[in-house]
Amino acid sequence: MEANKLFQYNTLGALMAGLYGGSLTVGELLEHGDLGLGTLDSIDGELIVLDGKAYQAKGSGDQPEVVEVSHDVKVPYAAVIFHQAEVIFKQRFEMTDQELQARIESYYDGENLFRSIKIRGHFSKMHVRMIPKSSSDMKFAEVATHQPEYTAEDISGTIVGIWTPEIFHGVSVAGYHLHFISDDHSFGGHVMDYVISQGFVEVGAVDQLDQRFPVQDRQFLFAKFNAKEVREDIDKAE
Ligand SMILES: [Zn+2]
Repeated sequence: MEANKLFQYNTLGALMAGLYGGSLTVGELLEHGDLGLGTLDSIDGELIVLDGKAYQAKGSGDQPEVVEVSHDVKVPYAAVIFHQAEVIFKQRFEMTDQELQARIESYYDGENLFRSIKIRGHFSKMHVRMIPKSSSDMKFAEVATHQPEYTAEDISGTIVGIWTPEIFHGVSVAGYHLHFISDDHSFGGHVMDYVISQGFVEVGAVDQLDQRFPVQDRQFLFAKFNAKEVREDIDKAE
């Protein structure tokens, strides 16, 4: 049996410390997975990887903007996997995100392995936000306090993402990290909260973590990280 490998480029911690410059192309990223998330060069919005395609959700005005990303665009942080559902269930009635997540977790074998998550359905409410494009001299936690937020009602689409065990907080964010894209590609972003009316929920197993580092990025190599501060910032920002 082939192992389900979660590919992660860079760590959320490095992003928190202000390393926003992209150093891996979307083309390379997509060789390692067909589902996932991340952000783009200069943290210009939210990256959504669904069915092997990469999308960028960004926003500044009244409406978010979702566009397909070309393969030469670079990313500073992303996590993708060739998602293989291990548990699939149909959610037949309305639930809040908290309720649905409790249902999802009831299928976990313990709480120490990563999971990939895909939820395709109809949502009576979807509340997202976008990280705004920034330069490295502004800390992520600071940028994160000025994120545009959007809410859609009665919308069909797909949530993609990763569930991270508590013991790997810092490498990634513990718990759910989810991004959404609507079926018509007009709405999306980093999921804050939602209410699902009905849909199909897929939970994928993760057997391995393939953690890559930006080994040619001088900024990363010589950065002085304050690990305690980084963890606090992840708590604040994510
Ligand atoms: Zn996100």
